[in-house]
Amino acid sequence: MAGLAAARQLPPSSYQIFEKSRGPGGRLASKRIEQQRADIGAQFFTVRDQRFEAVVELAHSAGAIQSWEPRMGTFRSSIPVDSPDTQQRYVGAPYMNALGRFLSQSVTIESETRIDTIQRDGPFFVLKTTTGAEYSAEQVLVTTPVDQMADLLAHFAVAPIVTQFTMEPTWTSVVSSKYQLTTSTHEPIDACFGGDHDVFDFISVERSKPGRDSDLIVVQASTEWSKVHLEHDPDWITQQIATELSDTFDIQVEPVLSHRWRYARPTDPKMTTQKGIYQVDAGLWIAGDYLAGGRVEGAYLAGFEAAERLA
Ligand SMILES: Cc1cc2nc3c(=O)[nH]c(=O)nc-3n(C[C@H](O)[C@H](O)[C@H](O)COP(=O)(O)OP(=O)(O)OC[C@H]3O[C@@H](n4cnc5c(N)ncnc54)[C@H](O)[C@@H]3O)c2cc1C
Repeated sequence: MAGLAAARQLPPSSYQIFEKSRGPGGRLASKRIEQQRADIGAQFFTVRDQRFEAVVELAHSAGAIQSWEPRMGTFRSSIPVDSPDTQQRYVGAPYMNALGRFLSQSVTIESETRIDTIQRDGPFFVLKTTTGAEYSAEQVLVTTPVDQMADLLAHFAVAPIVTQFTMEPTWTSVVSSKYQLTTSTHEPIDACFGGDHDVFDFISVERSKPGRDSDLIVVQASTEWSKVHLEHDPDWITQQIATELSDTFDIQVEPVLSHRWRYARPTDPKMTTQKGIYQVDAGLWIAGDYLAGGRVEGAYLAGFEAAERLA
């Protein structure tokens, strides 16, 4: 998100983008599951700033995103209760990765190209890929999560950022159930914040999102639970989450798969740098959600601001 936002503000001939994955979007991710798909990263996003609103309107008109109006719940004393709100939420259409694809339409990306090191060479920076290719640049913007940034910029003074802006992991499990989630008083709900529950951080029912009709339910585990079970086998994680969901909502649930995000969200989303960016060295900038409040909108605005400095 941050990298795409920056690129969209700059003349295409002035930059190159390197992305290690096949598709754009990073944590705006969805995963194919047999004939179906589910969002496994960000579940929705919200809009506050006009600069983000402008691009959200474009994506909405193009059909790349839709409004999502789930009946919301939360957990109190580990019991599901309803928790209606008036928050305007958006999701990618048909899936979350559609937003990354939309934003990348006007942008050229060197995909499946992983940068291994970045070093200074006189007035230039030299970027080496894991396959040994080299690129030089007058300026560099790094928009990876903080730990990956620290590896890439091992030759630069990033300790002040790395020690303060840490990130936490999240296990995301996908399970399947044809049954409706309900509160303890039998109100139907489509999504549920973790509240004070030990295991759950967020639950969302895929078929409540526009245009989706699967039985898949996406469960994000709480940070504490994810940390304790970080190195467990994904199948074990899926089974645990399926059992917990089944017991909590008293419904039949089938395990499907789990995905481990080692760097999911900032430890303290209230801690930010000015504008969500940071200058590491002359011509070398970092930006991303971990400096900007840990959300899709924050990542976008950080990239937007970084582009102004690069220009
Ligand atoms: C499970 C989960 C749930 C979330 N839920 C929400 C939510 O409901 N609402 C919300 O607003 N936000 C949510 N978020 C946060 C949101 O997804 C992020 O804030 C946002 O997508 C981050 O964008 P970014 O550009 O900063 O980083 P990323 O999306 O992480 O992008 C970094 C990119 O760098 C690439 N990369 C990394 N290393 C290299 C390398 N060496 N060479 C080349 N490329 C590299 C990666 O492949 C990736 O594409 C969630 C995140 C997770 C993981």
